[in-house]
Amino acid sequence: MIDWEEQEQLAGELLERLFPICRSITGNGLRESLGILQEYSEFTQVEYPSGTQCFDWQIPDEWNIAGGWIKNSKGEKIVDFQENNLHVMGYSEAVHRFLSFEQLKPHLHSLPSLPDAIPYRTSYYRKNWGFCLKDRQLAQLDQGDTYEVFIEATHAPGRLNLLESVIGSPGKSEYLISTYCCHPSMANDNLSGVVIATLLHRLMQQHLKLQHRYRFLILPETIGAIAYLAHNQDIMRQSSGGFVITTCGGPGSFGYKKTFQGTHLIDRVIQQTMRDFDLNAIEYPFAPDGSDERQYSSPGFRIPVASITRDKYYEYPYYHTSLDDLSFVTAGNLVGTLQLYWACILMLERNATYRSLNPDGEAQLGRRGLYPQTGGALKQSAADQSTAAASRKGLHQKQSDPVDAITWFLFLADGEHSLLEMAERSGVPFDQLYSIALELEKHGLCRAN
Ligand code: ZN
Repeated sequence: MIDWEEQEQLAGELLERLFPICRSITGNGLRESLGILQEYSEFTQVEYPSGTQCFDWQIPDEWNIAGGWIKNSKGEKIVDFQENNLHVMGYSEAVHRFLSFEQLKPHLHSLPSLPDAIPYRTSYYRKNWGFCLKDRQLAQLDQGDTYEVFIEATHAPGRLNLLESVIGSPGKSEYLISTYCCHPSMANDNLSGVVIATLLHRLMQQHLKLQHRYRFLILPETIGAIAYLAHNQDIMRQSSGGFVITTCGGPGSFGYKKTFQGTHLIDRVIQQTMRDFDLNAIEYPFAPDGSDERQYSSPGFRIPVASITRDKYYEYPYYHTSLDDLSFVTAGNLVGTLQLYWACILMLERNATYRSLNPDGEAQLGRRGLYPQTGGALKQSAADQSTAAASRKGLHQKQSDPVDAITWFLFLADGEHSLLEMAERSGVPFDQLYSIALELEKHGLCRAN
């Protein structure tokens, strides 16, 4: 039985602990964050040294930052990394100089369309330094003043770190669940993904005896995914599909980005989940943008991966700014997303084909106490507890009329239709069909193929 209130509490805890840390594609902040995640579920840290060739890329030197600020000629700190780690451009080189406003200006980044937001900028592969600040503040700077800029940072050979965990049974399908952990203090992009991946892993470990295998990866975006693919080529080329978990904790509508195939099992599982929860999710067609689907679905690997989103990247105004914070993303929002991913996993795990053992004409349900209106035997099974819990907190799953549901199940239990196909065909929620299958199996009326 899943306690969704506990999940909400854990999500809140993780958000609070992880939000302040300055993460990047390498470095101490990244390792500290991964260490925190390991307190919540069993992941293994994997590391690749700087300079390692990974296909067309190389693991860069590790970047660590101790601080950074701009002072005006009165010695007042007007921009300070200690106040917000977005103030220093990611991977900035060390610098200590006195500059005129004109000399400083090319190194300042602001967002005129959102004057109270500090934008997020990085320069991983081109040596540079920079500061990010609110456009409102930039507009007020004295253009005749002299400014002292200081960044204390190191670029040195080190490691790229990531978390990996493979759970479930070998020999069956293997699914990929990946998210990226390289962004500093922003909540929807992508602490939301990191928290969901961690709690989903924890739930699967605690509550399921898995039929399939699941490969969880929490890694730096792009370079981390490329490095992992390069080091695990054979196994990754055999992946059946999966999820890239990103930007799923905002207050907006749920959405989902399709796999490049658009009709893969993963697409169907997400679409069915949205129907079962009665959610009118925004559908985003696949495009080679966004996150690590660009690597996983590249021609050499072609792993179909999709994302469930809530305020998807590019779509919300606070994207890649300091306003993507803990007032925008809440633990309550995240629990809804976790319920949806959990439902997708249950569907992958429970999708099976059933054959009626009484296929000639309809079975007489009343005689077996199974006719719902009189017998009432088709109550929610133990396996359906997740739904019951979900209805107390967060999202609600639909239920079809019990007579319709059992009639559809028996009609389609011809050994040809999987539970997912039955749900798609009949409109009866997947979970309800699964409960019916378990109940009828107990009464000797059907069996799994
Ligand atoms: Zn991003």
